[in-house]
Amino acid sequence: MVLAALGQQVGAALKKIVDSNSVTAEVLDEVIKDLSKALIIADVPIAVVNKFRDRVRKRVNLKEIAPSVDVRVMIQQAVFEELVAMMTPTVDGEKVPTFKPKRNKFNVIMMVGLQGSGKTTTCGKIARHYKKKGFRVALIGADTFRAGARDQLAQLASTVPAPCFTSDVDDPAQVAREGVARFREAGYEVVIVDTSGRTQQDEALMAEMAAVKEAANPDHIMFIMDGTNSGKIIALQSEQFHSIVGVGSHVITKLDSDDTKGGGALTSVVSTGAPIAFIGVGETMNDMQEFNPESFVSRMLG
Ligand code: GDP
Repeated sequence: MVLAALGQQVGAALKKIVDSNSVTAEVLDEVIKDLSKALIIADVPIAVVNKFRDRVRKRVNLKEIAPSVDVRVMIQQAVFEELVAMMTPTVDGEKVPTFKPKRNKFNVIMMVGLQGSGKTTTCGKIARHYKKKGFRVALIGADTFRAGARDQLAQLASTVPAPCFTSDVDDPAQVAREGVARFREAGYEVVIVDTSGRTQQDEALMAEMAAVKEAANPDHIMFIMDGTNSGKIIALQSEQFHSIVGVGSHVITKLDSDDTKGGGALTSVVSTGAPIAFIGVGETMNDMQEFNPESFVSRMLG
């Protein structure tokens, strides 16, 4: 995965600082250039890279640094914090919190995304995640479009294990409404609604999502995105889904895949103001991690 390569390249660039006898403007320029190159190779959008470069430069003004300040530490800190900032949506300077279901309450999470993005698989992963945290969890198969999606979800549910509501009815809004009513009545705490995707975001999908949203009345909407897509595509998808259903958080899947560059996927959704809640790192039920930009960048840099 290219993200590991990014970590190595950022580490190598920072090592130039550590190894230099004195941190001159030339050394700093070279390091910032190396860092920018590494980010571009990882598919981080140019505008984001430029912002990163400008902010690091602004923070590390060699002419104005007091002699008591360790300039090496200062640069490392600035790079670390600006990498974190790239993946952290903020509102009025405050980090946007990730969604946490409330205990002993009825929390409905609606999962949306394009076909093949890993939505159904992620429903199972999320169900297991919250079940492990001690919530009473249930699933609803409202993807009536993709043949086999309901059986796939029911099968995943049996491995969680968690009850799963599916129906032969073709109207996804009706399925969602019925499932939500049943699980509310039965006292479940986290109910995850799988919905239909399409191969692209067309009008039928957008209308269907709006109808299911109205029927399920979700507390939170998660947008599942395929992390092997370029940052440009991810940004476009994110904007469109956001404007139709109001995305609360993102899950970026397939970051384990050889096809992912990762940097674009992880930085392109920030502008929507909705954080990345989880990342998918494999096909099995355990291959999902909670996403926290600080610990992610720490791990990336080794
Ligand atoms: P849906 O059409 O969005 O419901 O997609 P599925 O859940 O059926 O997933 C599509 C394919 O992506 C399946 O082969 C999944 O096993 C695979 N997949 C899902 N998440 C991940 C992930 O994090 N990593 C990898 N490598 N594959 C994944």
